[in-house]
Amino acid sequence: MTKRILVEIIPQLKDNYSYLVYSNVNKLGFVIDPADAAPIIKFIKDNDIILSGILITHHHADHNSGVNDLIKFQSTKIYSPDKNINKTSNIVKEGDLIKSDFIEFEVIATSGHTLDHVVYCSKQNNLLFSGDALFRFGCGRIFEGTCDEMKRSLNKIEKLDDSINVYCGHEYTIHNLNFLKGVFHNDKMLDEIEHDVLKQIKNTKTSMPFNLGNEKKLNPFLSLGSSTYKNFMKRKGFGNVEMFRYLRDLRNNY
Ligand SMILES: [Zn+2]
Repeated sequence: MTKRILVEIIPQLKDNYSYLVYSNVNKLGFVIDPADAAPIIKFIKDNDIILSGILITHHHADHNSGVNDLIKFQSTKIYSPDKNINKTSNIVKEGDLIKSDFIEFEVIATSGHTLDHVVYCSKQNNLLFSGDALFRFGCGRIFEGTCDEMKRSLNKIEKLDDSINVYCGHEYTIHNLNFLKGVFHNDKMLDEIEHDVLKQIKNTKTSMPFNLGNEKKLNPFLSLGSSTYKNFMKRKGFGNVEMFRYLRDLRNNY
């Protein structure tokens, strides 16, 4: 059997996502951000998965409330950035490597949404689990950090390779895209991607994963490289952080 790393997308609660990344050969797996253990346990049972660990991105309950039931079912390590998070066994910080027999994750600190927020990146497998830091066409609300902090965190993600597939914490994609289309009228790039995204959702019932390279062109919270975004900033007389703050404030009330 050819060794492959697979990602199961497990919808949670109203619009959350948990993920199970696993090896098709040795059936080892990591769960990311479990909120509701039941569908995750079902997948683990159906596929004989042995957990190598649970990875938590931040302290909000909709990203870790499933931990208790999950470890009652199968005991495993719980990696999180905050010792106060439900049953944490391994506290992670910027630059830590989580090594296992089938995959390695690098921890990237991404405060802004919360102060403790981290994302988990497997560079060898082109995977990024971005929690509530980066959404498709958007970013997390800034609850605990500052705009500057969030921007710095997103800059770290922007530096990652274009080939990375991103799996984020919520299905906000269409709402985010509608927001961008409302701000940046008649943008060809946004119209084109809308067509692709609707097709993806129709076929797979989810807009996950998404390509980071594309996201760098399309998501103004991540990068302002496109001519539409540059021209808009010029008209408004904004710098990068001002533009970020302007869009984040508008999106908060959208
Ligand atoms: Zn959150």
